[in-house]
Amino acid sequence: MAKLSIVLPAYNEEQNIANTAKVLSTLLEEQGIDYELVFISDGSKDGTYEEIVKVAKDNHHIKGAQFSRNFGKEAGIFAGLELTTGDAVIVMDCDLQHPPEVIPKMWKLWQDGAEIVEGIKAKRGKESIFYKLSAGLFYKIMSKLIKMDMNASSDFKLLDRKVVDVLLELPERNTFFRALTFWAGFKTVSIEYEVQERQFGTSKWSFMSLMKYAVANATSFSTLPLQMVTVMGVISILFSVVLAIQTMVKYLMGTAVEGFTTVILLILIIGGFIMLSLGVIGHYIARIYEEVKGRPKYIISDVTDNVQGNVTGSWKGKRAE
Ligand code: UDP
Ligand code: MG
Repeated sequence: MAKLSIVLPAYNEEQNIANTAKVLSTLLEEQGIDYELVFISDGSKDGTYEEIVKVAKDNHHIKGAQFSRNFGKEAGIFAGLELTTGDAVIVMDCDLQHPPEVIPKMWKLWQDGAEIVEGIKAKRGKESIFYKLSAGLFYKIMSKLIKMDMNASSDFKLLDRKVVDVLLELPERNTFFRALTFWAGFKTVSIEYEVQERQFGTSKWSFMSLMKYAVANATSFSTLPLQMVTVMGVISILFSVVLAIQTMVKYLMGTAVEGFTTVILLILIIGGFIMLSLGVIGHYIARIYEEVKGRPKYIISDVTDNVQGNVTGSWKGKRAE
């Protein structure tokens, strides 16, 4: 019988674990789907991992791991994928903002031959205007940069085992799960869902973390900013040729004294361009540096008893008691 694995990254979600575990296991048992739930506590500082251990003790379908520190949701997703054993894997938020009712539909689509089922947001749930603006801008920029429509896409997806294995083989450390499934290809269908409201706790994203996420993902998926630097360089060279000719003409005509304004403006503009360009290049060098160091995406500090086999991350296997 085919098995469904569900990956649930969780950061400081102690209020959600027990409820989410119950809702999902009840639903899947009702539907007669063989399942496993994989909770990854992303270095939570509250009792999230203890909650995971508790639910895993009560239900052998549930397992989980704790990170040694907060590595971010991306890392949580990939660690979760690695721990799954199912024939199909669904990734979803553990705050149930991704509605569980969609799971059986995704499962059905998978049984009918889909290899990736993309969850597409019908509309965002109640969120602050500020969040809407920043998230909206984020997706606009992302869609432009990676040439895929990211506006409605989300991390709520079902992946066939094949796709999971492909993603786990990728050597890169700066992953962007949402876009990687587009990149991977495969037989993809999409399904709409409505983002639910969070029942417990608050959103784990701040404006700064969202901005960091945007820049990190843009640079991991596109080299366009780097090419823009060249374009800006060409534009300023053209501009300076025009100005150089004008200056020379003035000089030859003996009217070259005034023009400090131009000088100051030029220094400011060109200085600005140079610094911006250096920043962009610096960002990519930082990326290369990070990839070259080859550190693991995450470090697992503990796993529940029912996790078998070795887990990557610098920590291997379970300590002998
Ligand atoms: N999350 C995580 N690590 C982080 C931040 C968030 O694993 O550093 C998890 C979080 O626990 C939740 C999911 O990612 O399950 C989505 O986060 P959240 O609900 O805060 O984001 P939002 O729904 O507001 O976009
Ligand atoms: Mg949420």
